[in-house]
Amino acid sequence: MKACVSCGKTSGKPVWREQDVDIVRCGGCGLVYTNLEGDVAETFWKEPKPEKLDQEDFYWDTARAAVYDEVLDLLEPEKRAEGGEPARILDIGCGKGFFLKRAADRGWEAHGLELSPHAVKFAKEKLGLRHVAMGRVENVAFRARMFRVITLWDVIEHLADPGPILRKSAELLAEDGLLFIQTPNIGFHLPYAHLKRLVGRVTNSRKARKHQLEAKHHLVQFTRESLAGMLRRSAFKDVTFQVLRPIESVAGSRSERLAAAKGAYVSVARRIFGATGGRVMLANTLHAFARRGDVPPPKPFKAPR
Ligand SMILES: [Zn+2]
Repeated sequence: MKACVSCGKTSGKPVWREQDVDIVRCGGCGLVYTNLEGDVAETFWKEPKPEKLDQEDFYWDTARAAVYDEVLDLLEPEKRAEGGEPARILDIGCGKGFFLKRAADRGWEAHGLELSPHAVKFAKEKLGLRHVAMGRVENVAFRARMFRVITLWDVIEHLADPGPILRKSAELLAEDGLLFIQTPNIGFHLPYAHLKRLVGRVTNSRKARKHQLEAKHHLVQFTRESLAGMLRRSAFKDVTFQVLRPIESVAGSRSERLAAAKGAYVSVARRIFGATGGRVMLANTLHAFARRGDVPPPKPFKAPR
């Protein structure tokens, strides 16, 4: 059994199996993770075919416009907190830069990192974003505390261990700077996968039995509690959650009816979240905000022998 990357325990119990891989839940902290070694981040992004680019742009920009704007509304007070300094935002795994473009239009100094060369080229040439570079945040020489806000849209679930990115983000954030994370809510997706598998058995549909939990792409999956725990272990504090606007499509599906059903579901989840004072989180996606806490000083550099 692979050790839990959040709390280190090896007491995971299988909760789901697909594509010949077990998904387990940690007995220590509740993290749900694929019992598979390795990091597939570099291979996750499939360079789209040119004829697919228009659809991709729809998915990543138009479909998400509402949630991007909602997050930028929530981040607006952070920008003012910088006084005269340019307020810098860093989007790690920025894709083609659609979120950053919106941030730049609102006056943020917008920085982005991305693993796909195609996406970096698009962000720079088509969207005119000057501070977008290819690479991993752990290897890029940013100044400590240079960002007011760091965002991670659908990134951490693809990493075998999000710890290094989270700890690096804490170092790069200004005192009391803010981290925003969007990631799937396994508290929703696991029961939903069971339901779909059951429906698939009853209706004998092969489609419904396939990889519902993306075992080989989503290597760690969080509930509100397990994400808050991992953030606190990674030098963050004051973790809060919001139910934000759903994206106006469903990943991997062109069905407008499915998208409408999803939108209606999230609206209900949002109302329940509000009515229960944030205690009941039924949304399919987690939107977390956390402040930089006390970051331990970096370890002294030791030259390799
Ligand atoms: Zn754990």
